[in-house]
Amino acid sequence: MYYGFDVGGTKIEFGAFDSDLKRQATERVPTPGDDYEQLIETLAALVAKYDQQFGCEGTVGIGIPGIEKAEDGTVLTVNVPAAKGRTLRTDLEAKIGRAVALNNDANCFALSEAWDEELRGEKVVLGLILGTGFGGGLIVDGKVVSGKNNVAGELGHMRMPIDAWLHLGENAPIFDCGCEKKGCIDNYLSGRGFEMLYTHFYGEEKKAIEIINAFKEGEEQASEFVERYMEMLAMVFAGLFTGIDPDVVVLGGGLSNFEYIYEEMPKRVPKYLLSIANAPKIIKAKHGDSGGVRGAAFLNIQR
Ligand SMILES: [Zn+2]
Repeated sequence: MYYGFDVGGTKIEFGAFDSDLKRQATERVPTPGDDYEQLIETLAALVAKYDQQFGCEGTVGIGIPGIEKAEDGTVLTVNVPAAKGRTLRTDLEAKIGRAVALNNDANCFALSEAWDEELRGEKVVLGLILGTGFGGGLIVDGKVVSGKNNVAGELGHMRMPIDAWLHLGENAPIFDCGCEKKGCIDNYLSGRGFEMLYTHFYGEEKKAIEIINAFKEGEEQASEFVERYMEMLAMVFAGLFTGIDPDVVVLGGGLSNFEYIYEEMPKRVPKYLLSIANAPKIIKAKHGDSGGVRGAAFLNIQR
């Protein structure tokens, strides 16, 4: 059995998957606020419970909105206070007596999609999350590429390409980022960025869904805005695709439900690629909210 934990700010989701990658168990428990011992106990208790239920020792993977520091194994996270600065992976390993895999939740999302039945044969799968923030995960041959510092896939903190920024016109905004740099693409592409740009151009605050609905009704201002956003998105995507050259790109997060993206990117992306390159297939994620726990469990799969 492959066990996965999706550890979030408010809840922990557990999932057990069999060798056909079919889910055999699901359980959700609250995340202990900032009590680290309680967090370890909670995870270990679930492992013990399902080991007994299935009569085996399952492999254990954890997905978390954070990054494990390569030097000392401590977790850098803001959303899960109990795990902040702690050596979660090795402490749980000591507690349950087996290896534990831990990775960033965006990487787990991408891994989950890469192991979808239809994508299993693809060599390079790039997951991109157009959610509150913009994040990514890179999967090669069914494995997460984490890099030397575990920051591979943190595409949201690459800076805006110059063509995309110039496309925003005179007085294009230079947004500050939570990482203390300026101009990170997270603040332009994400759902939050979508709203910030709208406010920048029109001086009004609107939710992304309101802008999208107005666009669908043919409202002029929303149409102009969406047009500008799509071209910017194509420019940024093309830069990422030139660097990574994925076979398939899977989009997740709230904005990924905007179907117009899938109509427009194939038309707009190619002109910003190298002339020798074809645009990758861009598709919507299939596993939605269960992507985190699936991907966490699949950290232990060997292709
Ligand atoms: Zn940043």
